[in-house]
Amino acid sequence: MELIGQVIWVIGLVGWYIIRFPFERRAKRVQVVGRTRTATELAGLAIAGAGLMAIPLLWVVTGWPHRADYPAQLWSVVLGAVAFAAALWVFRATHKELGKNWSITLEIRDAHKLVDSGLYGYVRHPMYTSFLLMAVAQALLLSNWVAGLSGLVGFAIFYGLRVGKEERMMLETFGPEYRDYMARTKRIIPYLY
Ligand code: SAH
Repeated sequence: MELIGQVIWVIGLVGWYIIRFPFERRAKRVQVVGRTRTATELAGLAIAGAGLMAIPLLWVVTGWPHRADYPAQLWSVVLGAVAFAAALWVFRATHKELGKNWSITLEIRDAHKLVDSGLYGYVRHPMYTSFLLMAVAQALLLSNWVAGLSGLVGFAIFYGLRVGKEERMMLETFGPEYRDYMARTKRIIPYLY
């Protein structure tokens, strides 16, 4: 069961990259007119990468840290697979909806439009919702306390460093349009938060 959880997690991670890759290529071709990336943003991305990818991958490949292993459970692996599938579905939908407005860091692109429909009609940060779902999936799939929980810790730090700044940047760019949008949406969990 431990191995099955690991295999599902690796498949999910590969799926994540397959979804993102074409957007990274396309994003390079759209002019950035806003600001440049800051050290805090890059640190946030590095921490997210460590928690959601590097640390769990290290455990999957080397078994380290062995002492944090616990017995894997079928129910947990099943729920984890469902959560990862949901994360990938949301992740793909946000890329399609943001289209040319997507950036890995906080940037305003040429002809930037405020997207406020589809998933963006429910929450302002559905891509971060997909990261949270991924972190939950990791915790359910990987039967090791460190490798399992590092994603939730990495997500929390990334989110804390980024979301306030992102909303300030969007307010500066879109003004009342974004203010109205904030009034009718939540941040990452529909109807709740
Ligand atoms: N926080 C969003 C987007 C993440 S990608 C989410 O979780 O889904 C980050 C980039 O998306 C930022 O550079 C910003 O310019 C852009 N962005 C964020 N919200 C947006 C929106 N509602 N419409 C258009 N672009 C948006």
